[in-house]
Amino acid sequence: MIKIRLSFAALVALTASALATEQSLRPGGIAIIEIGSTDVAAPAASMDDKPLLVMQRGEKWVAVAGIPLDTEPGKLLISINGQETIIDVAEHAYREQRLTVENKSFVDQNQKQLDRIWSERKIIDAVLTSFTESPVGGLTLAAPVPGTQSSSFGYRRFFNDQPRSPHKGMDISAGNGEPIAASRTGVIAATGNYFFNGNTVLIDHGQGFVSMYCHMSEIAVEEDQQIKTGDIIGAVGSTGRVTGPHLHFGTYLNGTAIDPAIFIEK
Ligand SMILES: [Zn+2]
Repeated sequence: MIKIRLSFAALVALTASALATEQSLRPGGIAIIEIGSTDVAAPAASMDDKPLLVMQRGEKWVAVAGIPLDTEPGKLLISINGQETIIDVAEHAYREQRLTVENKSFVDQNQKQLDRIWSERKIIDAVLTSFTESPVGGLTLAAPVPGTQSSSFGYRRFFNDQPRSPHKGMDISAGNGEPIAASRTGVIAATGNYFFNGNTVLIDHGQGFVSMYCHMSEIAVEEDQQIKTGDIIGAVGSTGRVTGPHLHFGTYLNGTAIDPAIFIEK
């Protein structure tokens, strides 16, 4: 009996370390840099003068850098306690996606809509670039809804043949009204009804690790509310720029969009 328990524990430990060491050195991926013993104080890590998430993994501190989608393949400099570390970023060709959108206002906006989009962009960017010092216990996220997860992160999109910003999240298929669960413990950093994203919730998980839930039919939380993994934050809908109900799920580190597939528990 004891033997079985021991081997089960060993298996769990192995799986956890395999997940934790997962590197994804491509644009839209992450770099995990092992730093040193947790016997000393947490180091300061940054990239392009933006602070990076630093967390404990086993007996070591690790820094986690989100690699921006527009990063050219090659070297990326990360500063740890003022010393530079070089990361090799691999080439990754994201697919092209061409969509026909019938509601013209979602492709060409008038000045009033542009003003609205601009003010919403500022609110969202403020959350994505914020950095709260709270400790982060890990990088895994629970799937917010159980449906099929698209692999459309990073798609270079064209609406009615006009180039638009790349797809900065994962679309999860789900029906209208299906409950959405928080992916990880955190604080509700913003909620709103935005032009493109529709009803949206942003959760700050600490140190620039943020998750975003869009196109919701309803929002069940308020700003500054503490949230735990699995708490219901709203329901799936089709608000904003969409062709049908689904959940757009976005994840961010150091202000940059990261492929959610890297974090979601398999
Ligand atoms: Zn989407």
